[in-house]
Amino acid sequence: MKNIKDYDLDALKEEMKQLEEKPFRAEQIFKWLYVDKVKSFNEMTNLSLELREKLKENYDICNFTIERKLESKDGTKKYLFGLNDGNAIETVLMEYHHGKSVCVSTQIGCKMGCKFCASTGIPFVRNITSGEIVEQIIAIEQDNNCKVSNVVFMGIGEPMDNFENVINAIAILNNHKGMNIGARHISVSTSGIVPKIYEFADKNIQCTLSISLHSANDRIRSSMMPINKLYNIGELMKACKYYINKTNRRISFEYALAKDNNDNLKDAKELVDLLKGMLCHVNLIPINKVENGNYKKSSLYNIMKFRDYLNNNGIVATIRRELGSDIDAACGQLRRKNLKE
Ligand code: SAH
Repeated sequence: MKNIKDYDLDALKEEMKQLEEKPFRAEQIFKWLYVDKVKSFNEMTNLSLELREKLKENYDICNFTIERKLESKDGTKKYLFGLNDGNAIETVLMEYHHGKSVCVSTQIGCKMGCKFCASTGIPFVRNITSGEIVEQIIAIEQDNNCKVSNVVFMGIGEPMDNFENVINAIAILNNHKGMNIGARHISVSTSGIVPKIYEFADKNIQCTLSISLHSANDRIRSSMMPINKLYNIGELMKACKYYINKTNRRISFEYALAKDNNDNLKDAKELVDLLKGMLCHVNLIPINKVENGNYKKSSLYNIMKFRDYLNNNGIVATIRRELGSDIDAACGQLRRKNLKE
């Protein structure tokens, strides 16, 4: 059955046309779903009983069940949500001084195979639909009785490998008649699927693009991320420059530091040479150790030296605060494993 949360307002108006209903019905439904956040068509009391029945016959309202919830000492919460088809996904809620941020998953499993990431090794099952992406935020808002201000597409999966659904989910989240999360408060992170970066640029969406770079050296990057063998750093940078020119927006480069792998001054120097003059920001992340992973966290001393080298050479870099590592909710630690525990 179709999921009513898969439609942005304009598409929902089209759906209403198909049902021979007036377009303003779509506005009413949209408000019920994303402002009042009701869980059933029965609660949509300004719709006729007949229309509610028609909606029930044609659509599901994708409500998740909370299979498991873990809370970190720092307030971060990790959810394992059960989906309607029996699959499960992880989503994380983080508290920052500027508000609440949700890290959403975009695929059940991931095909990218990055060597340092816990999501590697989960067999790819399917893409997460737009409605299911949006529902991750709604379910968290309801469970915490809060308003989420920021969304990062950094959970399990590769957003650019589920492009249409991600773009549509952003439109739904962004709509001021519903969730009303400003594009500037949304970040999409990619391992570097070059053709999709061009497409993303052409859409001119005002959200932040994050690139998981992790090394400025093709040999090292390829050893960490198989995607680099398909699209190397040169091609990736061309796409990034196209994005910056087209949107006038700063790119955020993610760089997870692993001891003796990509954390030496020579690596920092290569990074400066690569990014010099670009409108960008570098986010340094102490790499999180994952089960069976070969990478070790860099020392804080090395990370600070790395940051200082970048900053002293004209590249804005900050060290990302680690959240939720005690509940395996930090970067790269998501893997649905709790289902089996
Ligand atoms: N597939 C997308 C989004 C999911 S990963 C991407 O690759 O960007 C979200 C971020 O966490 C990426 O920057 C990824 O490289 C990083 N990450 C993955 N495993 C990590 C680990 N073990 N330690 C630190 N960061 C990690």
